Amino acid sequence: MKIIMLGAPGAGKGTQAKMLSEKYDIPHISTGDIFRANIKNNTELGKKAKGYMDAGQLVPDELVVDLVVDRIKQQDCFKGFILDGFPRTIPQAEALDYALNNQNEKIDYAVNVDVPDEAIIERMSGRRACVGCGATYHIKYNPTKKPDVCDVCGEKLILREDDKAETVKKRLEVYHEQTQPLIDYYAKKDALLTVDGTQDINVVFNTIVGVLEK
Ligand code: AMP
Repeated sequence: MKIIMLGAPGAGKGTQAKMLSEKYDIPHISTGDIFRANIKNNTELGKKAKGYMDAGQLVPDELVVDLVVDRIKQQDCFKGFILDGFPRTIPQAEALDYALNNQNEKIDYAVNVDVPDEAIIERMSGRRACVGCGATYHIKYNPTKKPDVCDVCGEKLILREDDKAETVKKRLEVYHEQTQPLIDYYAKKDALLTVDGTQDINVVFNTIVGVLEK
């Protein structure tokens, strides 16, 4: 099963991607996670990506397309994969289609986790990430046991640069301009599944699974 997750930053597509990946035992490929790992390890890719990410902008297509196309050719992706955060532009979607086409394959579903902007801003400004292991929490909806200390590894929590209110607003603008057109793109291919992302996490998950298994 080849799935891509669509939706604004903070819509909860990463959470759903992780749950789907576990259920179907296929890799969860998050381009945001790949970039953050590269920044942490101070790689050339990380250095190139950091400025764009901190400013709430997209990393240029040429830095992300080959990375994903190479990743999905690896053996663990033969059964399928879940792409989270890619594609984010029409050229990225076209490059992905081209690569899959060459192997006589296609995307089965583009899952659009739909959440209004106001709810996104509330969610993201309350989000906290662990500096050690990257686990994420929410001060209101998913708090840690001890304030500002990661439940998993005990390191401290921060508000990520790209979760700050100003950056979130910029990221939403970028989303509406550059990523939202993908909803039409996949609707035309009859691959779109839109789910109301304001519902409880498990309700969203069961709705998605219900359609995938129809
Ligand atoms: P995410 O964790 O998916 O919200 O991604 C965090 C940031 O990484 C984004 O705001 C972009 O700056 C960058 N990024 C992740 N995926 C892509 C992509 N497919 N194209 C361009 N930039 C990306």
